[in-house]
Amino acid sequence: MGEVLNLIEEKAEAVRAALAAAVRAHRRVIYANSLGAEAMVLTDIIWTGVPEIEIFSIDTGRLHQETYDLMERLQWRYRRTLRLVHPDAAALERLTGARGVNGFYHSLDARLACCQVRKIEPFTRAIAGFGAWVTGVRREQSAARALAQPLEWDAQHGLYKVSPLLEWSEAEVWQYIRGRELPYNRLHDRQFPSIGCAPCTRAIQPGESRRAGRWWWEQPESRECGLHPRVRPAAAEA
Ligand code: SF4
Repeated sequence: MGEVLNLIEEKAEAVRAALAAAVRAHRRVIYANSLGAEAMVLTDIIWTGVPEIEIFSIDTGRLHQETYDLMERLQWRYRRTLRLVHPDAAALERLTGARGVNGFYHSLDARLACCQVRKIEPFTRAIAGFGAWVTGVRREQSAARALAQPLEWDAQHGLYKVSPLLEWSEAEVWQYIRGRELPYNRLHDRQFPSIGCAPCTRAIQPGESRRAGRWWWEQPESRECGLHPRVRPAAAEA
């Protein structure tokens, strides 16, 4: 048990070092906190070890109550305010006026339009002017993410993308969370390994992939919100 914890602490130290290096190389670095399990690891490492990195989360307006509860628990634990970025109100009104409040169920096009207004535009606005953004993606999570690189040029957004948890297993993420008694989304205890907006996330069944509960009515290859490309770009030079 002690060996396992030592290994996790070593991996966490490597993440801390990678993030500190990203700050030295890119100066202004921002973390788009998804509030998933991986995000608890990165939030802990950043707020306790690399506080120069700014953190924000996107409040799409359609999150689970458990996710809002988690935001508050994070703020209590670290005595810091989590910056929330919201969709543009006028764009949201246009979207719901044109597509209906639950239009995302009706077509892939409508779903991507909703993700554009509620996630992509707020994300793009939040990272403007930064040199790099941090993400908690892991190779295990999907076929597309298996091809990710620790440092990539994100041509879509015009800055570097840093993924320091790529080689972490899900078990290691949870060892870190449990070892430090970090807050986490209570939906994880109810078979929600990957959590997004409430209407587009459901619990998974035994044997299903961990992302099977996200946009479950779509083909697997379309199940990303657009923040992470479905086709990988070339790796950035370190
Ligand atoms: S995940 Fe669903 S509710 Fe959330 S922004 Fe995308 S389509 Fe809209």
